[in-house]
Amino acid sequence: MENKYPFTLEKFPFGYADLEPYIDEKTVDTHINKHLAGYIKSLNELLAKLPCYQNFTLEELICHKSLFPQELGNKIAFNAGGILNHNFYFNMLTAKRLSPDGLLLAAIEKSFCSLEDFKAELKKAAANRFGSGYIWVISDWRGFLKIVTTANQEVEFSCEKIFTIDVWEHAYYLKYLNKRADYVENIFNVIDWDKAEKRYKAALKVTLQ
Ligand code: MN
Repeated sequence: MENKYPFTLEKFPFGYADLEPYIDEKTVDTHINKHLAGYIKSLNELLAKLPCYQNFTLEELICHKSLFPQELGNKIAFNAGGILNHNFYFNMLTAKRLSPDGLLLAAIEKSFCSLEDFKAELKKAAANRFGSGYIWVISDWRGFLKIVTTANQEVEFSCEKIFTIDVWEHAYYLKYLNKRADYVENIFNVIDWDKAEKRYKAALKVTLQ
């Protein structure tokens, strides 16, 4: 996707039914074609009236939201964040049925004792994210993994992001109803752990052989 106005819907690396049974087809279809497409449409409509800012990237629009009157700046940042966060989330999902491996698995065990403890911490973080938002797994400067959460469509800029879990109700409610922890448990099956490993290595600045 060209990261400039007019923003368009990206093609993600799976079909809508490919994440079944962990994330159902209707949820994936609605999430991409209604929710994400809605953020894109809203941001394009706002920027259509602001030709001076049509050259800004999504990140620049968020960082410079104070250039606009407050209400407009908040709307722009909310929709730009919705696009950035969803593109990151969907690009980290796959139908390849992978598991954490290699350096990333070692980092999970070093940071959380075990994969099961890591999942438990993710579920706890998901439960404590009141309302809508995202869970992020990030790597700190020593290569330790940490779990942080953001509200609504705020963007996590500061750290090396390994993967994210969208915990807005629209990401799971059709299948899981109010059982957010069950969604977090099951999404492990469709996370692209190869990409997560690559992101972790990049965060460590490890040279691939
Ligand atoms: Mn979402």
